Amino acid sequence: MSLYPKSANLLIERLAKLPGVGRATAQRLAFFILKSDQKENIALASAIKEIKENISFCSECGIMSESEICHICTDQNRDSNIICVVEEPQDIYSFEKTNSFKGKYHVLGGVLSPLDGIGPDDLNLDSLYKRVMRGMEVILATNPSVEGDTTCLYISKKLEELGVDVTKLARGLPVGSDLEYMDELTLVRAMEGRTSI
Ligand code: ZN
Repeated sequence: MSLYPKSANLLIERLAKLPGVGRATAQRLAFFILKSDQKENIALASAIKEIKENISFCSECGIMSESEICHICTDQNRDSNIICVVEEPQDIYSFEKTNSFKGKYHVLGGVLSPLDGIGPDDLNLDSLYKRVMRGMEVILATNPSVEGDTTCLYISKKLEELGVDVTKLARGLPVGSDLEYMDELTLVRAMEGRTSI
């Protein structure tokens, strides 16, 4: 038997499913919501509903977008001959915050991880191979982890066969760290110091 009334318990259980939110935080959030103005709560609920209704992922690069092709892919001022390959859409925002990368992006949607049953077919690789052309540069900006490095190696072989100049971010990024949380200066340096594979 739970200590809380049914409705409170339901909300706590739902909140606890969010990444990074444990049961204690879920309880705190539920109490906060209970004490909040109902207008605020309705605004929160409709924002959650609308994000799924209005936003999907760009069919070209995989970033969040309100249109089929995102604002980065359609930007004529960006260099289509350089593609930065990242694991997840949120990594793009880390690079965009640095304001120093003027190429385009491609989201893999994960990394190769045989132990978790994630193989090449589970990543957005075919769409990457279709986008690239001989003479282009592809920067492999996976996270500095064993899975990230394995994925890099796997993709670089195929890209080289396609005549692409493959580079990767400079070393010096702490192993096991996440690009999403890296400070801007470190990211700019990693990008500027990128090396051929
Ligand atoms: Zn796009």
